[in-house]
Amino acid sequence: MSDTKSESLNPFAIAQRQFDGAAELLGLDVSARLLLREPMREFAVTIPVRMDDGNTRVFKGYRVQYNNSRGPTKGGLRWHPDETIDTVRALAAWMTWKTAVVDLPLGGGKGGVTCNPLEMTEGEKERLARGYIRAVGRVLGATRDIPAPDVYTNSQIMAWMLDEYETLVGETHPGVITGKPLQLGGSQGRGDATARGGVYVMREACKLLGIDPSTARVAVQGFGKVGSNAALLGSKVLGLTVVAACDVNGAVINEDGIDVDALAQHSLRTGSVVGFDGAESMDPDGLLELPVDIVVPAALENAITARNAGKIQAKIVCELANGPTTPDADAVLHERGIYVIPDFLANAGGVTVSYLEQVQNAYNYYWDVKEVHTQLDRRMTESFHAVHELHESRKVDMRTAAYMISIDRVATACRLRGWI
Ligand code: NAD
Repeated sequence: MSDTKSESLNPFAIAQRQFDGAAELLGLDVSARLLLREPMREFAVTIPVRMDDGNTRVFKGYRVQYNNSRGPTKGGLRWHPDETIDTVRALAAWMTWKTAVVDLPLGGGKGGVTCNPLEMTEGEKERLARGYIRAVGRVLGATRDIPAPDVYTNSQIMAWMLDEYETLVGETHPGVITGKPLQLGGSQGRGDATARGGVYVMREACKLLGIDPSTARVAVQGFGKVGSNAALLGSKVLGLTVVAACDVNGAVINEDGIDVDALAQHSLRTGSVVGFDGAESMDPDGLLELPVDIVVPAALENAITARNAGKIQAKIVCELANGPTTPDADAVLHERGIYVIPDFLANAGGVTVSYLEQVQNAYNYYWDVKEVHTQLDRRMTESFHAVHELHESRKVDMRTAAYMISIDRVATACRLRGWI
């Protein structure tokens, strides 16, 4: 994504800078700061995979267990060509603050493999998924560390990994991984949970800011599991008008409103939003700067930097991606009065339903989708208002308020355990 010379775009340096600011405001003691600004455990592995052409390729994989004071570490698995230990560290840190801000009895972790799944066959992906579990499986478990889908991974990949794990341990353990297919112990409502949780907090933000969703316009960056469902649910549940959307290949715009169902079908069929005949093509770089009410970054880190923060025209930035806004950009958005719903609050719906999936796995009893939506709505709405109230009372931006709540909860758990 976009770059500026003066600004550090290393995601872990950004996560630490965000942490430091909130820790200072909380008056956190030195030992807590030292413990909480670093991961507790990291694993780096090499995964040999036999490719379809008969050659073996060796992939780098990572699993970072950032903090487990509040429960087993939990966090997705990303397969991306730009994956590094620092992106995984940052994402694991944000998972720790995410599970804490919505008050789940879980810690934070994350995994990654440096690869390009868009250029791999299904067989190659299956062998990589199984190889990853053979490499890190012994540190995973429903009471240790629980992966889930993230960028370029999906429920099929979770199914292969579950199968490999259960083959290794010789028992069924559905709670070792979430985001599974329904037939293997997945939860109703997990597929669109991240987006749905985001839609619930957008609804609450609109109420607070006096925005009528039925006349509000929105632009969505990223059209994968999260972005496409945010567009679909934003229009169906809230009545928002989606005017622009993009993915890694390009962007489309229709000032009168995009038929989101048709765009989702087009994207499913062709693999991209590009070429959709219900909209014009546009330069994806300008998407977040469009004159809309809400922008939804739902792709990767560093989408909003010092370079473009001054050009954002929306009233609300609902961060469904992890780490889309740099600290320098945050300061500009705050100064300009733009309401940012920070990533680890806005996109906590995914891990919330992953937690509900684990609860159902433990009971071996499964709920209907209405029950899942009710529980998700309650937790997202309560957490959002707790953050908003602190934002108002302490006169800090929403991200800092969310950090203050989470850090306090995690530090308390560490103190109770006698770690600090
Ligand atoms: P995905 O792989 O399903 O989709 C990613 C989308 O981003 C694709 O449409 C891709 O084309 C697009 N993209 C990639 N690079 C881009 C670029 N440079 N510009 C524009 N678009 C680009 O992934 P996802 O699960 O939808 O995840 C999206 C974001 O949401 C990530 O930041 C992820 O960490 C975060 N997130 C996901 C979940 C989840 O449950 N899947 C939960 C919380 C947060």
